[in-house]
Amino acid sequence: MKLSNAKILSNTPIAKDVYKMEFECDFTDQAKPGQFVQVGLPGFEMRRPISISWIDGNVLRIVYKVMGKGTDFMTTLTPGTELSLLGPLGTGFPIVKRDEVLILGGGVGTPPLLMAAKAYLDAGAKVNVALGFNTKDEVFYASEFEQLGITPIICTMDGSVGVKGTVLDGAKAYNIDCPFVLACGPLPMLRAIQNTYTEGYISLESRMGCGFGVCQGCVLVDKSGMPVRVCKNGPVFPIGKVVL
Ligand SMILES: Cc1cc2nc3c(=O)[nH]c(=O)nc-3n(C[C@H](O)[C@H](O)[C@H](O)COP(=O)(O)OP(=O)(O)OC[C@H]3O[C@@H](n4cnc5c(N)ncnc54)[C@H](O)[C@@H]3O)c2cc1C
Repeated sequence: MKLSNAKILSNTPIAKDVYKMEFECDFTDQAKPGQFVQVGLPGFEMRRPISISWIDGNVLRIVYKVMGKGTDFMTTLTPGTELSLLGPLGTGFPIVKRDEVLILGGGVGTPPLLMAAKAYLDAGAKVNVALGFNTKDEVFYASEFEQLGITPIICTMDGSVGVKGTVLDGAKAYNIDCPFVLACGPLPMLRAIQNTYTEGYISLESRMGCGFGVCQGCVLVDKSGMPVRVCKNGPVFPIGKVVL
């Protein structure tokens, strides 16, 4: 974990209310798929946790959705501005030996899965991907997965593009019966995945303070009733471990 003043290289909209921001950053060599950074914003007391989506040399990419004051402020930032980044934080997606993996991303849960997909491809796995959004305007990252040689199944709840329904509907429509899943997305999606699959890992969100395990602000409870800190024990957990 390092505290770094990272220079913004770009900050561009890529879908409705969704932006891609790239930084020149000096801890990229330590980052693993599924880890996150705590983004310090001038004038805001709390840092904002955002997943690391991609690393290319010393360039770190995040993708964020405008949800409130902090992320709205982020849209105004221009290249050359420096932000304080704390990271990389949390556990990432374990890269385990598997012949095949099914990656399920929902909305802004999709970004950290790009790096995980690359890691599984590099480890020799066949990688299937289904990405879910509400509607056509919200779809992003299909071309990023295509650049890795993966054709993602796009799913929209209103059927405006791709399969109508959730990522689970998408996997079913394409007869993907891979039992090993990596997923990140909204809570209802993760609940459904946890009720359907028993093997793999999900990445969770919780409101958090410090981001490195001290403040206990992000605690959830595991199936045995023990507290788990999303920031430090997670955000990635084995499917079925945490009560959702
Ligand atoms: C490990 C982790 C990774 C994340 N990765 C991404 C990502 O890649 N892209 C993305 O768009 N969003 C991501 N989020 C959610 C993102 O942190 C919130 O949307 C963001 O903090 C909202 O800030 P705000 O000031 O716009 O909203 P406000 O509602 O004004 O924020 C008020 C406070 O609540 C906190 N907060 C609000 N929503 C969340 C949330 N869902 N999780 C944690 N804290 C929250 C804020 O950090 C802030 O301290 C992630 C959250 C976690 C925990």
